[in-house]
Amino acid sequence: MRGMMMDRPLKVSDILTYAEDMHPGTEIISSTVEGGIHRETYAQMAERARKLARALLALGLDNGDRIATLAWNGYRHMELYYAVPGIGAICHTMNPRLSAEQMIYITNHAQDKAMFLDLTFVPLVEKLAPQFPDMAYVIMTDAAHMPQTSLSNVHCYEDLLAAQSDDFDWPEFDETTAAGLCYTSGTTGNPKGVLYSHRSQVLHGLMAGISLQNALRVGKRLLPVVPLFHANAWGMAHAAPLTGTSLVMPGPHLDGASVFDLMDAEGVFCAAGVPTVWLGLMAEIKKRGRIPKGFAEVIVGGSAAPSSMIQGFEDLGVSVCHAWGMTEMSPVGTLGILTPEMETLPAAEKIALKSTQGRRAFLVDLKIVDEAGNRLPHDGIATGELFVRGPFIMSGYYNNAAASADAIDAEGWFGTGDVASISPEGFLNITDRAKDLIKSGGEWISSIDVENMAMGHPDIANCAVIAVPHPKWDERPVLIAVAARENPDIAGIRAHLEARLAKWQLPDDIIFVDDLPLTATGKVSKLTLRQAYADHILPDEG
Ligand code: AMP
Repeated sequence: MRGMMMDRPLKVSDILTYAEDMHPGTEIISSTVEGGIHRETYAQMAERARKLARALLALGLDNGDRIATLAWNGYRHMELYYAVPGIGAICHTMNPRLSAEQMIYITNHAQDKAMFLDLTFVPLVEKLAPQFPDMAYVIMTDAAHMPQTSLSNVHCYEDLLAAQSDDFDWPEFDETTAAGLCYTSGTTGNPKGVLYSHRSQVLHGLMAGISLQNALRVGKRLLPVVPLFHANAWGMAHAAPLTGTSLVMPGPHLDGASVFDLMDAEGVFCAAGVPTVWLGLMAEIKKRGRIPKGFAEVIVGGSAAPSSMIQGFEDLGVSVCHAWGMTEMSPVGTLGILTPEMETLPAAEKIALKSTQGRRAFLVDLKIVDEAGNRLPHDGIATGELFVRGPFIMSGYYNNAAASADAIDAEGWFGTGDVASISPEGFLNITDRAKDLIKSGGEWISSIDVENMAMGHPDIANCAVIAVPHPKWDERPVLIAVAARENPDIAGIRAHLEARLAKWQLPDDIIFVDDLPLTATGKVSKLTLRQAYADHILPDEG
């Protein structure tokens, strides 16, 4: 028997309409590309999104068209986040840190009809433009800041809006209609497209809002350092308006000092980003001897947050939520939110729990399997490849049958490529990306574990552990580190690791570098490091 409830579609525009009705005065505050701070309310954002929707239609864009954005976190990007899917088109958020070849590949693969870009990216797009002969360009600025450009078919964002009224009703369509497109990177081969639907975006936004209720609340301010071009800024683009949380947007200013200043000036309660961003903020906090005013919660994800970083924040009175997810999952999969009883555990136990990737989010199912695909117990010991299932997890890559077939197993679960254990209480512990694990003499070594230990030494500011080929052991771990001070105490670091790791897990070499290479999403690129050190001679090989 079917239920007798209204079959109303879930639509992304419903989130904005709700924010306009219920939280009209809540602000979105942006540090702009042009310079200075811009403020608008959710009511103003909704009004401008309706004007933008009319402008998109006037440009000949409509249902099913892919519209690219090449932009930092800011109010205009948020307006696009709602206006583009609002008319039934698809918001394709492009990562500006990709290589030129990758950008050309994904723009052509997505068949984008228009591209909205921040001023920062005009020179870059001018170089790429010959590859996109039919593209319409919109520069996200006002008439006063419009640059001289060689781009043709180019418009000014504010002029487009000024020419429209906001008399617009969001159209209705099926909730499975595509709403957003985001290409994953960081792997070898061409980037793969993840096509979100209205239904998946709304469900994921609801889940994120409910799960993060400590951080996302009416009257509180959230700073997503995680970009809008990286998997919906982890759902913050939807969860913040939905919950009436005020957004503070950093624009292009992502260094520790700029993030500190913005948080301090605007009284940011919660900030979300990858560990590399927090290393920068931590250095700034140390320098100034205090945390930004009002800072109480930090969401860390994208790669493993070292225990020392979690401890460092908690010691400063900033509560850490360590989250795990993937672009393919919208992206949130697990969240490190403790029960009130767990919060009162002795400090070391609490940090150990917070150092895991947390527990599954609502609507996300997890399973770990062995190499033959058999399910493994959730006993905190068995380790296997992690598979996930749920209504905001992709069912296949956009226009890529081969990659889709590889990604989904016979039972319809998505294979994450991560290796993990799950405790009886449901805490996920990611040991590695399958391809980052180190196989030495038939035994697996978790690079994340060794990094975690190394980061606990005060002379190490950042590090990565990679496999280097070895004639006898197949692979051996090598620690590539950025020193926290001149002349780091190498013998001390070795002793620190020896006290915590089995002998065969100890890195064969410790190499100091000035900087670690980063991927387009701000994670340490182990692929680049493996390539750079593929011929490295280990000390015992002489
Ligand atoms: P992306 O699609 O770019 O967000 O990358 C997803 C991948 O980042 C995952 O498959 C993990 O390998 C890694 N990742 C994300 N969050 C974490 C985390 N908290 N701990 C360890 N790895 C993570």
